[in-house]
This record gives sequence, C-alpha cells and structure tokens, in this order.
Amino acid sequence: MDEPAGTAAPGYVGRYAPSPTGHLHLGNLRTAVIAWARARAAGGRFIVRIEDIDRQRSRPEFEERQLADLAAIGLDWDGEVVRQSERDELYDDALRRLPTFPCFCSRKDIQRELAEMGGAPHGVPGAYPGTCRDLTEAERAERAAALVAEGRGPSLRLRADVREWRADDALHGNVVGAVDDMVLRRADGMWAYNLAVVVDDADQGVTEIVRGDDLLTSAPRQAHLAGMLGVPAPTYAHVPLVLNSEGRRLAKRDGDVTLREITAAQARRWILDSLRGGAGDGVGVGAGGDVGAGPVGAAASAGAGAKAGPFAEVDDIADLPEVFDLMAVPRDPVVWRSG
Ligand SMILES: [Zn+2]
Repeated sequence: MDEPAGTAAPGYVGRYAPSPTGHLHLGNLRTAVIAWARARAAGGRFIVRIEDIDRQRSRPEFEERQLADLAAIGLDWDGEVVRQSERDELYDDALRRLPTFPCFCSRKDIQRELAEMGGAPHGVPGAYPGTCRDLTEAERAERAAALVAEGRGPSLRLRADVREWRADDALHGNVVGAVDDMVLRRADGMWAYNLAVVVDDADQGVTEIVRGDDLLTSAPRQAHLAGMLGVPAPTYAHVPLVLNSEGRRLAKRDGDVTLREITAAQARRWILDSLRGGAGDGVGVGAGGDVGAGPVGAAASAGAGAKAGPFAEVDDIADLPEVFDLMAVPRDPVVWRSG
C-alpha cells in the first residue's frame, strides 16, 4: 500500500513473498529473516506479499499461519499484505503491453520438438523451440480449434527479442542467463510466476529482491521482462538455501522443521546460529550434541553456535538489523540435521 503523502520514504524496499501452499519451514524462515534484516538495516521498507496465483494449491489457512509464523520469529512488515489473487487487472494490463503469441503446444509437443531438433535452441535446456512463434493466422485458427476440441486453450508466450540478459546480484555479481519465449499466461488461464513477480515488484517499488538461490537462474529473464515493461529492474541477493542431511533442499518431510513441531524460540536460535556459520544440528529433541562432518559446506563443520563475524554477539533476531551485513551471511548452503 502507498505511504501517506509526506512520509519520509527511504530508498530501500525489500520484500518476502511466500506461497501459501504449506507451512513455512526453517529454510523459508531463514530467508525471510535475511530479507527483513537487510531492509531494516538499510532503514528501508519491508513488505510481505502472498504469492497465491496457484489457486488450486493456495489455502487461506496457510497464509494465516505463515504470517503468524513470520511475526513469531520477530519480523514486522510495512503496509498491508498484498495478495496476487487480487491483482488480475495489473497482470492483464502488463500482458497487453508485451509482445506475445499464442502457443498451442503441450509439454509433450515441446519435448518431441526439442528431441527432433537435437536439443534446445542456443543450448539452453528446456528452452521453448519457437514452434508457434511464426504461425500464420490460418494456422493459428486451425490449432486453436483443435485445442478447443480437446477442451484446452492456448498459453500466451512472450515474443522475446534477446537470447540472454543480465541481472545484478549483490552476492553473485552480474548474472547472465537465458531468456526464451517464456509463458506469461498458462493454458489453464493462470498467470505465470515470472509475469506476476515482475509486475508486483515493480508496482510495489521493490528495489532489491532477497530470496533463495534456487531462483538465481530466473533472475535474468525477470530482469528482462521488467525492461520490456519499462520498469526498473530491481537488484537481487540470492542467498544459499537450507539443505537436508542428504544435500537436498530442505522440505517439510525432513522432520521437525516448521513451527508446528518446534517452538519459535528454537527456530530463532537456529536461524541466528546458521547466520554465524553454525547450526549444523537440528533443533528438535536431542539437538545440541556434537556436530558431525556434514556432506555440504562449511556450515556443518563450523560447529553449532560457532561465534564469528558481525552476528557473533547478537542474541535475538530483533537486534540483527543493527549489525546486519549481507556480505557476512555464509555463502555455503546451511545443512539442517534432525536432532
Ligand atoms: Zn507452441
């Protein structure tokens, strides 16, 4: 929401944007803490946006719990929480300003086409092969009719005019990545994440996006989309994910990782330890024992509660912004082990 006129508006605007499709786990909460501390340390605004474009999987009860969990670990945010499900007009308007073409391909069609071509264009895995880009009107009408007969509709894709673009990341430097004819509106009518996220960040004046590094490769195409919409591309800071003991992205099935199973105090302590390069152990029953040699990164071997760097003396997340330094956030993935 807009600030009332006359309110001093510091330049930095950060955000955390969860999807309400489940409970937040320690990895999600840790990223939220970093995004919040970065914004507060900059004297800026911090907003929370609910990314519920996937209406089948999104649940109001998860949204409610997620917001309660963010508050429970000590985060606060500015203005009202915005929901993507209430922003169709903005996405529609953006779509009209972009060069697009209807795509009649199923996932299978695309795979077959790529196999026939002997690989994706420009060596980018999974990149759209351009099948529907230059169809004639007559061909479009014919394919549309065939889809309707199957009870389906076309998706809308961006007519990209570049093959790669660059995003500016505080932790990764200049990230150059592929841009293809990305889907903007899916065949089932749902907005594509890439469109919604770019439109929302621009609309909300977000200046820097702090999020998990699983989205690093999406940043160049999102930055390009911002450029095509004539809005400033934000800068990025993609932070390492929290991994499970097998080195895979932490998930709810990994055990005691949400505030349904552990207390907010335990989560706060674990997150702080992880920022100090510790937190190799889980926080569940039996936590606090020796830290084994972990399969990934320095985090697991640094020892739980190892005290170093600017966060050494911080005892509570509330005090983090005073000393927060993004560059001091450990660069290696953090490993969570069940206790
Ligand atoms: Zn197509």
